[in-house]
Amino acid sequence: MMQPTGYPPNQGPPAGQGSGYGGYPNMPQSTGYNQPPGVPSASASMYNGSGNVTYAQPGVLQTTKQMPPATSGTMPTQQPPPSAMNGYHYQPQYQPPMGQYPPSHTGYGQHVSTAPLGGHPPPSHYSAAPAAPTQPPQQGYGAPPPVSAGGGGYRPNYSAPPPPTSGQAGHPVPGGPPGTAGYNQSPGPQQPSMQPPVQGMQNMQINNNASASYAAPPPSGLPASSMSGITPGYPPKPGAGPGMQPSPYPNPNAAAPTKRLDPDAMPSPIQVIEDDRMNRGTEIFKTQGRGLVPPLVTTKFVVEDQGSASPRFIRCTTYNLPATSDMAKTCMVPMSLSIKPMARLPQGEAPPLIVDPGAEGPIRCKRCKAYMCPQFSFTDGGRRFQCVLCNAITETPHNYFDHLDHMNQRVDKFNRPELCRGSYEFVATKDYCRNDKFPNPPAFIFAIDVSYNAIKSGFVELLCRQLSSLLDHLPREGNQEHSSVKVGFITYNSILHFYNLNSSLAQPQMMVVSDVNDVFVPLQDGFLVDLQQSRHVIESLLTQIPEMFKDTRETELVFAPLVQAAVQAVKSAECAGKLFMFHTSLPIGEAPGKLKNRDDRKLIGTDKEKTLFAPSSNFYEKLAKDCVTQALSVDLFLFPNQYIDIASIGQISQLTGGQIYKYNFFRADIDGDRFIKDLAHDIQRDIVFDAVLRARTSTGVRPVEFIGALHMTNTTDVELAAIDCDKSIHVQLKHDDKIQEEYGAFVQVALLYTSVSGQRRLRLHNINLSVCTQYADLYRSCETDVFMNYLAKKSVNLGCQIATAKIREDLLSQASVILAMYRKHVASPSSPGQLILPECMKLLPVYLNCLLKNDAIHSSHDISTDDRAYLRQLILSMDVDETQLFFYPKLLPLLQSTTNDDGIPLAVRCSEDKLQDNQVFILENGVSMFLWIGQAVDPTWIQNVFGAQSAAQIDIDLGSLLVFDNDDSRNLREVVSKLQAGRTRQMKLTIVRQRDKLEPWFRHFLVEDRGAGGAASYVDFLCHMHKEIRTLLS
Ligand SMILES: [Zn+2]
Repeated sequence: MMQPTGYPPNQGPPAGQGSGYGGYPNMPQSTGYNQPPGVPSASASMYNGSGNVTYAQPGVLQTTKQMPPATSGTMPTQQPPPSAMNGYHYQPQYQPPMGQYPPSHTGYGQHVSTAPLGGHPPPSHYSAAPAAPTQPPQQGYGAPPPVSAGGGGYRPNYSAPPPPTSGQAGHPVPGGPPGTAGYNQSPGPQQPSMQPPVQGMQNMQINNNASASYAAPPPSGLPASSMSGITPGYPPKPGAGPGMQPSPYPNPNAAAPTKRLDPDAMPSPIQVIEDDRMNRGTEIFKTQGRGLVPPLVTTKFVVEDQGSASPRFIRCTTYNLPATSDMAKTCMVPMSLSIKPMARLPQGEAPPLIVDPGAEGPIRCKRCKAYMCPQFSFTDGGRRFQCVLCNAITETPHNYFDHLDHMNQRVDKFNRPELCRGSYEFVATKDYCRNDKFPNPPAFIFAIDVSYNAIKSGFVELLCRQLSSLLDHLPREGNQEHSSVKVGFITYNSILHFYNLNSSLAQPQMMVVSDVNDVFVPLQDGFLVDLQQSRHVIESLLTQIPEMFKDTRETELVFAPLVQAAVQAVKSAECAGKLFMFHTSLPIGEAPGKLKNRDDRKLIGTDKEKTLFAPSSNFYEKLAKDCVTQALSVDLFLFPNQYIDIASIGQISQLTGGQIYKYNFFRADIDGDRFIKDLAHDIQRDIVFDAVLRARTSTGVRPVEFIGALHMTNTTDVELAAIDCDKSIHVQLKHDDKIQEEYGAFVQVALLYTSVSGQRRLRLHNINLSVCTQYADLYRSCETDVFMNYLAKKSVNLGCQIATAKIREDLLSQASVILAMYRKHVASPSSPGQLILPECMKLLPVYLNCLLKNDAIHSSHDISTDDRAYLRQLILSMDVDETQLFFYPKLLPLLQSTTNDDGIPLAVRCSEDKLQDNQVFILENGVSMFLWIGQAVDPTWIQNVFGAQSAAQIDIDLGSLLVFDNDDSRNLREVVSKLQAGRTRQMKLTIVRQRDKLEPWFRHFLVEDRGAGGAASYVDFLCHMHKEIRTLLS
């Protein structure tokens, strides 16, 4: 493995920069921060020798008294090997000044002071840097436009194709041949075309045989020969039949026959996104009919549900399925659906209507159990209906009967959502409930690490100060005044503390469970309580927690016993729930699920690399299954300073429909605002519990694989302890048989769940797909963004079983086959030197290269194992919008007047070529955000935004932007806030000055360029793919 050269220092922060150097990771060299020197750790068995539970005096919050054993308390295994120190992180690191180390010994072993009754100061509000005010976009933004940034700083050389003469502009015309993007590299001999003329065809070609002056060095691992012989030139004349558009391209080759391959001449994500926005941004996408390809995820559009599910809920890799498995195997275009069943809809689009079918329950096909939907057809005057999936005929129940009109449509069709909508809900009967009992409302359990590291990082104090007001936003259903969700609290280090919050108490009662090997919940009533009734007790508890543990010396932590306790709590309360765990370090305490540091960075790049991302044992998987059985979902808020083994503990979130948030080297002053906003979003977002998702398909195809944050015990039912509005799941389909073109294909996704108010319901999403026997039809209906989402999830899913190199090889091979088969079956014959790409897959090479070089998949030494494991788990839950942005970040030149309708600057291609000395750029990928400041930026702007004389004086450790009363400051904060508004998590803002030490880290995200670790540039990769395709075709 090549050692990256451009990376920031592996060791401590650069001289003079202090700690936490702007988001770049220097792991602390000292072990002292995590381990108070000379402090013994308490043994779980020490407390209250005769029993495990201590009941405090009523009304007094009593805390533990621990007599530490004489030795132990050091954590040699927790320290990562020196090689782990160079990892970069998505959060800044922090080395505490010496003054923050705890004094050794003094005071230890005494009672932790008991919080007084009452008289606490009211919780004050967290005061991080003020949030950016929401104001309308500033007009007349004062900064001078950059000299060379005309037209938004982006001047694509790559011309758009001529608009099709009919049909939706920019999109393939149904019934016509597919659009084609070819790459024109050479004016070479034009092939006589046997093809009928192609409407809306784009041609560019790469002629590897042409004499070449292009001499970029080959990317590592790619043969040098693939780089040679590339010159820009004419596209081939695509035939001359009726309806043919003349080629729109100028001939750059005529002027400069041996010019270097111009990256701007290659398909641009920016251009494709902009074209789609222009062409389809104003349309109302009506979901009537079969196999409709929706606008891209990056386009804002309105959906009208007319009988098929909205693309907000379901998107497909192709909306036109190949009729036979032979055809599917030949072209290797996957048949896969990205399903986001609880997606939140934008304003103006109504959520699925709820139907109460009464005591009889929803109407279903008697054979395959599919639910009534608009695609069922009624016969025999309405007395029977035929299932669209299995064709079985079922009698219409007496009380569901209605007459048919002259079109054989039920006369009440438009009064019943299940007869006219693609998405709707049924209220479920007891038959759909556990043990035939209607469920109780779910519970939220907050488990707070109160170890030494937790207290020192400041998150405990911050969390306890903010949590009470965050709880005001517990999820509610439509007309509910107060949330039905119950709440409970646990604190823990090497032992567990439960709290009785019964509303009859004046003060909370603490109960301690020190037997972590066989944990139990020491109270039945009073643990999970109603927020409204027990608010005074809860507020008292939250005020007391930071005080009670402020002098703790406890560093050993347990993890699994917490989860086990939460499982027991929801089990005895007979409800579903969500555990919010706030946790700092590797669980090395003597308890089930104890882990050790196994982060062996020598394995990176070897066949054994996969073991780093496989869990240490099956313990956590089993524990996660227990959670799913009790419908307990777990969200982890991690605050690590060292290796924490996310590959193991993360399974608890991944398999329970949960999520991980990670704040490396957390500092309340810098990261606090981000953490609290993430938590607020997590607490209030729409969520359902105890869910089972099942996808039923029409004859000929069946679902074979489900990928996401989920668990399965059989091959058909996806079990989700919970699923929220941000989570998406991929379902892959496979042929059972030939599918009939005239009938199309149909998928019905049913999600059975318990709502936050405790109602049991079924949500149905139905989608109609087309079926084709011609490859041209298939390639016309693909959606590359969904395909990339699928490839990313599949790669991550395989990541702990298959070597990284093999995964990357397979990805390249699949994509090459897809493009080669297009060439062979659709765009043939054409010159062998041409690279011809299907119109709706022309971004496949650039996006695939972004995926291959992403830290989650690329064998990278530059990022810690935990960060890679974290990214992998993030990807598993990402929807199509999120993967699009994550793999191809947005690069926005700030100092220009050209903005989109939202007042956000127009994006440029993610390449160093686009950077300008006098410009400021924002780069975001949904996880990280950068502010890059050019060397020649107007000092007035710097003064206005940072209050500094020059770029050199900017405090780049700022966690958020300063607030100044001027247009420059307001504009920047507004743009940042608008970008953040659409994201499911808070992005950390990193400030990077041009030619500063952090710049290589920023450039890592300029995904069209060569990567520091030898990853190929877009140009190189496209050439390499072209070679692969030629090999396949020869
Ligand atoms: Zn059926």
